[in-house]
Amino acid sequence: MGKQQKIAIIGGGAAGFFAAISAKQHWPNAQVSILEKSNKFLAKVKISGGGRCNVTHDCPDIKELSNAYPRGNTQLRKAFHQFAATDTFEWFESRGVALKVYPDGCVFPVANDSQVIIDCFMNTCKQLGIILKTQQYISKLEVSSTAVTIHNNEAIQTYDHVVICAGGQPKRSGLDWLAALGLEIIEPLPSLFTFNMPKNPISELMGTVVPNATVKIEGTKLSGQGPLLITHWGMSGPAVLLLSAWGARLLAEKNYQFAILVNWLDQKKEDDLRQDLTHTINAHGAKKLSNWNPTPLTNRLWNHLLVRAEISADQRWAEVGKKAINKLVNTLLNDRFEVQGKTTFKEEFVTAGGVALSEIDFQTMKSKKHPNLSFAGEVLDIDGITGGYNFQAAWTTGFIAGKHVF
Ligand SMILES: Cc1cc2nc3c(=O)[nH]c(=O)nc-3n(C[C@H](O)[C@H](O)[C@H](O)COP(=O)(O)OP(=O)(O)OC[C@H]3O[C@@H](n4cnc5c(N)ncnc54)[C@H](O)[C@@H]3O)c2cc1C
Repeated sequence: MGKQQKIAIIGGGAAGFFAAISAKQHWPNAQVSILEKSNKFLAKVKISGGGRCNVTHDCPDIKELSNAYPRGNTQLRKAFHQFAATDTFEWFESRGVALKVYPDGCVFPVANDSQVIIDCFMNTCKQLGIILKTQQYISKLEVSSTAVTIHNNEAIQTYDHVVICAGGQPKRSGLDWLAALGLEIIEPLPSLFTFNMPKNPISELMGTVVPNATVKIEGTKLSGQGPLLITHWGMSGPAVLLLSAWGARLLAEKNYQFAILVNWLDQKKEDDLRQDLTHTINAHGAKKLSNWNPTPLTNRLWNHLLVRAEISADQRWAEVGKKAINKLVNTLLNDRFEVQGKTTFKEEFVTAGGVALSEIDFQTMKSKKHPNLSFAGEVLDIDGITGGYNFQAAWTTGFIAGKHVF
């Protein structure tokens, strides 16, 4: 009988557990160990989705699914042919975790508790005989053509194959041990953040939700569409988070000082709005602007926008002049705000940057330079928008990495 192959998975998060389980299922004779630096496995899974864990997004179409990744979309499009959102659904349901699709496409456990995902992973590892070790801080790897030596706390151990699932690192220095292997590192940056507008009176309307708005970054082609939430600090909601993900690198270059243009009326065009306002003047000319709001916006926001447009709310519609209508049109469709700083979105914080995707063969998730090393999850320069896409990337890359270790 030949020597038992030894596989180490560095990092006991979402990608690490998926990689370990996939490795053991595809290579049942190998010894598989998860080495986690902290004293807890799956810490992010636990707090994810507000403690409910948004495991994936209901998106059977691979092209559409891959479009949710500002970084990694081309590579993931290939990878999803091996394991996509529908596979995630089957994977969990076949292990007794019932899942529910919500109207916005987000998928959560029916139990509404991330603990069921953790229990599923822990039980599966137990059944398969995967070795789980905490407080294993890996600070250095040495790679030869036949083995990988891990410097783990004070100890040194040798494995036949190592899968690196160490997650996103907020600072480049957290990736120095990987850069030391000659791997190209893309500067880590936050993705998914909200826009700060200190002292802007709009924050008086905190809690206001505009169900459909379009937000553009001035001077760029970047735009985000969807619900917009006014917060104590500025603006948040899906329209803003989309922009923060797609603009992560550009906005970091601008040191998070930039201007946005808000169309409060979704994608309404100027001609259509002018027609609506003409109709309002003709049909409701005797009514005051404060009492007759021709938009779907809340009356509080409508009145705030009248102030921003410097139009008296006590005027009657019939008295509103051409100049005021122009100002109102501009405020409703092209409202300019200065953004000064960001706040990381606590519900789902992810890191753009990490190990460069050009280093990886996405058929196997192996390093092109070191074929006895593979990578999965957020340690790579991959990130998705909110809605379960970040876990999907971790499951997909973890599954492939485990399947192709040898
Ligand atoms: C609050 C919050 C909520 C989120 N909610 C969602 C959600 O609902 N849906 C979604 O799709 N995404 C969500 N995300 C994003 C998602 O959690 C991550 O994209 C995902 O966890 C990445 O998985 P990973 O295994 O690559 O990294 P991680 O989950 O970060 O795991 C990496 C592990 O590696 C360990 N490690 C790091 N370095 C070393 C080392 N040198 N040696 C040994 N171990 C090491 C870490 O301690 C960690 O346990 C959320 C993120 C946050 C912060």
